[in-house]
Amino acid sequence: MSVQLYDTLSRSVKALAPASDQALRFYCCGPTVYGPAHIGNFRTFLIQDVLRRVAEADGIEVKHVRNITDVDDKTIRRSIEAGLSLGEFTAKWTAKFHADCDALNMRPPSIEPSAVAHIPQQIALVETLIKKGHAYSTDDGSVYFRVNSFEDYGRLSRLKQRELKTQTENSAGEVNDADEYDRESVTDFALWKGRKAEDKANYWASPWGEGRPGWHLECSAMVEAAFDGATIDLHGGGIDLCFPHHENEIAQSECAHGHDFCKHWFHSAHLMVEGAKMSKSLGNLYTLDDLQQKGFSPMVVRYTLIAGSYRQQLNFTFDGLHASQSGLTKIERFAESLLAVTGQDKAAMNSYICADAPENFGRLIKAWDALRNNLNTAASLGAIFGVIGSNPAASLDADGARAMLKALGTLLYALGLQLFTVDEATVDAPEAIVALAQARWDAKQAKDWAKADQLRDALLTEGWVVKDNKDGFDLELK
Ligand code: AMP
Ligand code: ZN
Repeated sequence: MSVQLYDTLSRSVKALAPASDQALRFYCCGPTVYGPAHIGNFRTFLIQDVLRRVAEADGIEVKHVRNITDVDDKTIRRSIEAGLSLGEFTAKWTAKFHADCDALNMRPPSIEPSAVAHIPQQIALVETLIKKGHAYSTDDGSVYFRVNSFEDYGRLSRLKQRELKTQTENSAGEVNDADEYDRESVTDFALWKGRKAEDKANYWASPWGEGRPGWHLECSAMVEAAFDGATIDLHGGGIDLCFPHHENEIAQSECAHGHDFCKHWFHSAHLMVEGAKMSKSLGNLYTLDDLQQKGFSPMVVRYTLIAGSYRQQLNFTFDGLHASQSGLTKIERFAESLLAVTGQDKAAMNSYICADAPENFGRLIKAWDALRNNLNTAASLGAIFGVIGSNPAASLDADGARAMLKALGTLLYALGLQLFTVDEATVDAPEAIVALAQARWDAKQAKDWAKADQLRDALLTEGWVVKDNKDGFDLELK
């Protein structure tokens, strides 16, 4: 059995199947770089990273392409607000995205194309679509895709079984104002947007006048460029992209090329925070920096974001982060106990964490099977803890411990988890935690024991243990 994964198109679990002697052609819609990515974005990117790692550890070569969306309404508007050119602005946020990806131990994609670097390819794609009768230009210099020219429109999201909705607003928040443009039908979507005053210096010359590409077009053009126009094996994105973005990618690419765009669709469910949708106005939109400032390491964040089944919404909570912290610590203690049997120290663990899977996973086989069976990260971690609970190090000799370390190392590679990244003795508590501990110390000096206890509990809830010494206090991670 090879790696199995749910496919949104066929609504079934299917084997990952690269065309013979080819690397798996895997495309993911990348970040829109107008600010730091939030943990919801990272949930999706991390799940894609785990899938790629599982495939690699299973012996499947992967060509992973993830784009950078560096031109759209938001990037243009925010760059103008920031007083930077679009290029300067998106370069800054692309660099931040890369830094966060590195901290989260994500494998860099094989290719990372940018939308702005593919303007000629996008224009060529629009020309093909016009020539074949699937697109038309309007008086304001825009070009629209003629949705009713593509009979299969809606196949992925089963749109025809629902009501054909207008695409007044797409999931990138770009508004297609029906009054402003001369569309034949409200369902038609923009391939090319004629230049508007608010775009300022951000436009390109085209056969239809100055303007810029539509968001959906960018991905179709980058897929074509990265994979030489071939049908791709797998396409990933958050579930919000299924309609209209992916539906529109299919329409553009299939009408232009006359063959299937993609064989297998991989959508991950959304991240919620404390039961609510993430939004700036609710104050529950977190970035990696926010969580690091609260004292959580990137590995704990990674663990939290991949620990739930990818097809179910993940409810992110601070209790969940603490649980991940202790889960990761348990795995570290387990690894240490096995290393001790082999006579090695912590530093040796890295040599076991690799994609080179052992012939035999021994008692950890369930954890490996769970990953290969529709990326069941939750069951995989559960199976690892099942083995840890039986304390195998107590009964293993050095060869047995080495074999188990090899199996564990492959699982950690697949999950992308690094061990011992945080030296517990040297973690600096964030300012807010130090302030709480100081308030507790002050309450103690004032002999307000009830308040001091209350603050100690508050620190514990945040994951910190406060210990008094003769001159003050020390803070340690729980
Ligand atoms: P964007 O930067 O908005 O283009 O989104 C990048 C990726 O993050 C896309 O695949 C989205 O579907 C995904 N995404 C956005 N919000 C969430 C969320 N709350 N949970 C999971 N994935 C998300
Ligand atoms: Zn896309």
